[in-house]
This record gives sequence, C-alpha cells and structure tokens, in this order.
Amino acid sequence: MKALRKYLNTFLLVELLRGMALTGRHLFARKITVQYPEERTPQSPRFRGLHALRRYPNGEERCIACKLCEAVCPALAITIESEPRDDGTRRTTRYDIDLTKCIFCGFCEESCPVDSIVETRVIDYHGERRGDLLYTKEMLLAHGDKYEKEIAADRAADAPYR
Ligand code: SF4
Ligand code: SF4
Repeated sequence: MKALRKYLNTFLLVELLRGMALTGRHLFARKITVQYPEERTPQSPRFRGLHALRRYPNGEERCIACKLCEAVCPALAITIESEPRDDGTRRTTRYDIDLTKCIFCGFCEESCPVDSIVETRVIDYHGERRGDLLYTKEMLLAHGDKYEKEIAADRAADAPYR
C-alpha cells in the first residue's frame, strides 16, 4: 500500500504540485524584502553588534580593569593590560577585542560590573586589511562616546528584565 501511494505520488507529480502551490501562495503575498541600507529591520535593545567602552557623564572611563570580561570570553578575543594610576585607582592601559575571534555571545557585557563594555546595535563595519578588525581601547571608547545616548536608552529599556 505504501509503495503504491509512493508510486502514485511520483506518477502524478504530487510533490512538484505542492511546491508550485507554495510558490503561488507567496507570489501575491506582501513582499518583505528590505532595501538595506536605506531600510532596516527592527532591532531589539539587546541586539549584540559592535562593541563599545563607555564613560561616566563626567568623562571618566567606567572600566576598572577587573578583567572579568577577559576571563569569561569563550573565544579569548579580549586582551587587557592594566596598571594603577596616581590616585590609586586602576585602569586599563590596553583593551583590545579581536573581532575575527569574537562570536558575539554577549558574555563580556553580562559579566561587566560597571556596564563598561557593551555591544551596540551597530552592524555596519568591515575590515579590508589584516588587523582592521582588531579594535583597540581608543577605538572602543570613541565608539562608546559616539553612541552613548543610544546605549544608555537601550540599557534603561532592558533594565527591568535583567
Ligand atoms: S561577545 Fe563573547 S566572544 Fe565576543 S568579546 Fe564578548 S565574550 Fe568574547
Ligand atoms: S570592561 Fe568591565 S568586566 Fe571588563 S575589565 Fe573593564 S570593568 Fe572589568
């Protein structure tokens, strides 16, 4: 019986007709093609894009060089060096993220006790030469400065769920 049904399905081109019916259903459906980059799909406040290092409103770096993010990173993408400052506080002297290793898991931002390292909504970046995707502390801070307003709004929107 099973073999007969299979034979009839093959003979009557049932699978082909099913496929064409599916195509036909979508032929007149509303198109959802997005004309990127002029058009964008909605993003969650939790979107995990390009990283940034944040500052406090007075301009002080948030990062206290605890190295939790470096320790938790499963891809070993973060490299931190630090030393104490004259005022006794500790700050990083080097903070690199190798985006060719990063898997955008978000563990670094989850682990940070001072909301310093975050992942932004930015997806428009690329590298053309070896090393272009090695983001240094200066690049990450500059990125944080540029998008601080959006980062702060996203963190506030997500705060009740953390
Ligand atoms: S997002 Fe994940 S893989 Fe990328 S730097 Fe952070 S912890 Fe590492
Ligand atoms: S970014 Fe956050 S978790 Fe990473 S070293 Fe700085 S304070 Fe610690």
